[in-house]
Amino acid sequence: MSANPLLSIEGLTASVDEKTILHNVNLNVAAGETHVLMGPNGAGKSTLGHLVMGDPVYTVQNGRIAFDGQDITELTTDKRSRAGLFLSFQAPVEIPGVPLSSFLRASIAGRPGLEMKGKEFRRRVKELAAELNMDTAYLNRELGVGFSGGEKKKVEMLQLLLLQPKLAILDETDSGLDVDALSTVSHGMDAYRKSCNGSMLIITHNTRILEHLDVDRVHVMVKGHIVREDDASLIPWIDKNGFETFEREAAEQRAQAEAVAAEQQA
Ligand code: ADP
Ligand code: MG
Repeated sequence: MSANPLLSIEGLTASVDEKTILHNVNLNVAAGETHVLMGPNGAGKSTLGHLVMGDPVYTVQNGRIAFDGQDITELTTDKRSRAGLFLSFQAPVEIPGVPLSSFLRASIAGRPGLEMKGKEFRRRVKELAAELNMDTAYLNRELGVGFSGGEKKKVEMLQLLLLQPKLAILDETDSGLDVDALSTVSHGMDAYRKSCNGSMLIITHNTRILEHLDVDRVHVMVKGHIVREDDASLIPWIDKNGFETFEREAAEQRAQAEAVAAEQQA
């Protein structure tokens, strides 16, 4: 790990509706690295992604988030996006009336180095669609409306390759995909990494998508705590053993902490 990580989450405790969801989370991603955040359903993985992106639904109670040398804890989502952060949603949006191509065009508008003339934009988008094995007819269709799960994910990959963010947080990009869409997403991730030395934080609870990726670091989250961090060797281990061990360990640690607290009270 380099001294100055691209993304640095330090002691992050955060809540929604007064309920604390993340507890003292530490997580660093260096430039060009691929990290994976794993954990059972409801662990807080998506919450962490939304907090990094600045979703106002969540409240930071403690800690800080720094990106590319800047404290972004208080920044709006738009500013974080312009700083080079990208989050793909677990459930992508549908915007009736807005064609996909207009949406893509708007997403690069006003961005230094990304803005293009109409002709160049159309050429670039077509090129990327071909790379992602995507029918260009989609470009004229309303964003997300009637798209299958796999098609929505392809759109996200297209947006990723167009925007070339410094860090892409991909939330369950692999869930519910058939083999064909899965391979497109893998290919998109690979292309993103190669084309702009992109860094990734891949959120997932299944290991299939990771088979073809060089993963630098794996973080395991259980009940809002990071309970383990290791290299890629942890992936086949989780594949075989699931998250039960971590859940049990976390429960034991909680029981111990509660016992200590009770003793101190007595
Ligand atoms: P994961 O992505 O690991 O499955 P989530 O981050 O979606 O987990 O959820 C973690 C916990 O936080 C869950 O108990 C969930 O119900 C709760 N939570 C997340 N977002 C919200 C929200 N906007 N409002 C209420 N509860 C939420
Ligand atoms: Mg989630």
